[in-house]
Amino acid sequence: MQLSEIINSLGEEREHYFNAMTPPIMQTSNFAFNTVADLRQAFANEYGSYLYSRGINPTVDILRKKLAALDNAEDCLVFNSGDAAITACVMANLNAGDHAIAINNPYTWAKKLFAETLPRFGIQTTFINGTDINNYLNAIQPNTKLIYLESPNSFTYELQPLAEVAQLAKQHNIVTIIDNTYCTPLYQQPISIGIDISIQSASKYISGHSDVVAGVACGSKAMMQKIFDNEYNTMGNCIMPFNAWLLLRGLRTLPIRLKHIIETSAAVVAYLEQHPIVERILFPTHPSFPQQALALRQMKVAFGLVTFVLKANNLQQVEAFCEGLQHIAMAVSWGGHESLIMPKAAFTTHTEFDANNEQHRMIRLYMGLETADYIINDLERGFAAMQKS
Ligand SMILES: *Cc1c(COP(=O)(O)O)cnc(C)c1O
Repeated sequence: MQLSEIINSLGEEREHYFNAMTPPIMQTSNFAFNTVADLRQAFANEYGSYLYSRGINPTVDILRKKLAALDNAEDCLVFNSGDAAITACVMANLNAGDHAIAINNPYTWAKKLFAETLPRFGIQTTFINGTDINNYLNAIQPNTKLIYLESPNSFTYELQPLAEVAQLAKQHNIVTIIDNTYCTPLYQQPISIGIDISIQSASKYISGHSDVVAGVACGSKAMMQKIFDNEYNTMGNCIMPFNAWLLLRGLRTLPIRLKHIIETSAAVVAYLEQHPIVERILFPTHPSFPQQALALRQMKVAFGLVTFVLKANNLQQVEAFCEGLQHIAMAVSWGGHESLIMPKAAFTTHTEFDANNEQHRMIRLYMGLETADYIINDLERGFAAMQKS
């Protein structure tokens, strides 16, 4: 199905709501039944019924259909955060005594899940450098049930060879999960490559306006039903209808927003790579990136996030750069309308700061919906403030 059709009409049945162009927000917790037989049937098949909005809700269903189609997946579940999606999908596929393999640097809270939460339930994880397929092979144990991926990640952008990992996992009956928030299914389709579950934090590009926290998981119908019948309902992490409606609204402009960000990213990266105060940049398709070839093959394009290392001698200079910006805000998250920076130094105290550690001088820039000139002019202000400090 064409992207335009998915975004403009798939899943929308206007005749059910007065032919309104925009779907209604079904802000209801429960649904009424006329006969005991109908109610009994709904209990027997909650996944296929409008019974209670912790489970299935009509506004959320429209979103599910569109997101599944975007990912070329059979089915989809939408959660009240990206992390809820990660936790539910991971827990649904592991039992006490199982072993998981995860890449070294996944999203902060995914790391916490594997490193701290799961061991409490008797599940051990081996963290590997996921750039090399041999590391997966070496980490597989007889009880390995899950491989967790994030390609690229959202700070240093390490990639994993997805087709090879998917093939290896299938040979060993291991479920594969990827966090695909960076690319979105528009620019990387993990399900088509053979990955079992594709997750996104919808708080980023799907929402696109920094006003919703939500998460998406796509996969086979059987896999989604398995998660629904257990973790989705037991943890109660469904998305609220209003937030689902905001995501539907965000989706309408997803392709054009990403197209704009791709163009802006190229211009800003070209500016940063030649800047005398920038030691180096991290951007998956840049010639200096160690996995450029894989990035060009596997992702259609790199965009949105770029990390650069300041030639700073001290923490004051890093702080002067960040605080010298007038328009680019300093905040967590990304994927919205507004450009943002996140300095790695925010994770470091003054006494810990080490100018020889390039991590401490790293700035992640998210390029939002402003023009490239507007972003570059503001970066120029930051560099000027840094030189004055
Ligand atoms: C933000 C983010 C998450 C977590 O999503 P929430 O919606 O904030 O829970 C997971 N992975 C990546 C790559 C993210 O950027």
